[in-house]
Amino acid sequence: MLFASLTCNVVNRSLLISLLLLASSVVSAAEPAALTDEQLAKLSLRAVAGKTDLYVIPGFGGAVSGGNIAVLVTQDGVVVVDNKFDYSHDDIVSQIRSITDQPITTVLNTHHHFDHAGSNPHFLAYAQVIGHDNARANMLANRRASADPTGAPPITYSDTTTLHLGDHKIELHHFGRGHTNGDTVVYFADLKTVHTGDLFIWGERLDGSKLAPFIDYDNGGSARDWAGTLDKILALDFDTVIPGHGAVLTRSEIETFRHRFEVLVGRVAQAIAAGISREGVAEAVEVEDLDWPLTADRIELIYDELSP
Ligand SMILES: [Zn+2]
Ligand SMILES: [Zn+2]
Repeated sequence: MLFASLTCNVVNRSLLISLLLLASSVVSAAEPAALTDEQLAKLSLRAVAGKTDLYVIPGFGGAVSGGNIAVLVTQDGVVVVDNKFDYSHDDIVSQIRSITDQPITTVLNTHHHFDHAGSNPHFLAYAQVIGHDNARANMLANRRASADPTGAPPITYSDTTTLHLGDHKIELHHFGRGHTNGDTVVYFADLKTVHTGDLFIWGERLDGSKLAPFIDYDNGGSARDWAGTLDKILALDFDTVIPGHGAVLTRSEIETFRHRFEVLVGRVAQAIAAGISREGVAEAVEVEDLDWPLTADRIELIYDELSP
């Protein structure tokens, strides 16, 4: 009996902790942070230089400002790539209304995370929402875990699909695993611009802290495959990049990011080959020169992935 009640207590306690964690994450996703005028100005919609009809609503981090939103205005409606948090829908629409009266017809998801696809449930009421097969599967699986509405995209694709809207051609590509197993790269072909989702993030959050790549192992992410996935992005003909988070950039930053990734994975593989233990790997692998604040647990998870 004693054993049974102890077990019961342990179960209840871990359930309680899960519920508390869940509650805190729901609260942080459900409520906008108070922002200064300067921060709000950084997050306001702006044209992408030299790219007719293309705009960005900036996002610098998952916790407060969400992911970058690309907005393409076409004669067949407005295309929105990513949509920040659940509470962001009305603000996104009002920012788009400052530049066009065209209806928002198409919403694309770069992946399933709540700071990129959080407004899906609102957009689903009137727009087509499209994402990768695995982005949908990840949203459905995460709903089972949390009981939140998912807004999973009802239209999915596996490798590539193309939208022809007005004068614009928009390609969706799944180039393999990286940040998750359901990442989409949106290629505005005639504008030579890509939105990479979190396969490529760069710079600092609103609070000045540095962004570093996150491998979502719970949703099929892979450090081993990431550089190869970036190679396929780099094979596209583009000059302008909208990252998952951070300022609009050029090809060269993706090349640098890819190189850093290859170096990081190579160093962890070398540590494994040298017989370094999981406990010792974060100490053994240098990351400072990569300019990514990677905590020990992140390096240990890469160690797990690369271990034979
Ligand atoms: Zn993100
Ligand atoms: Zn993400």
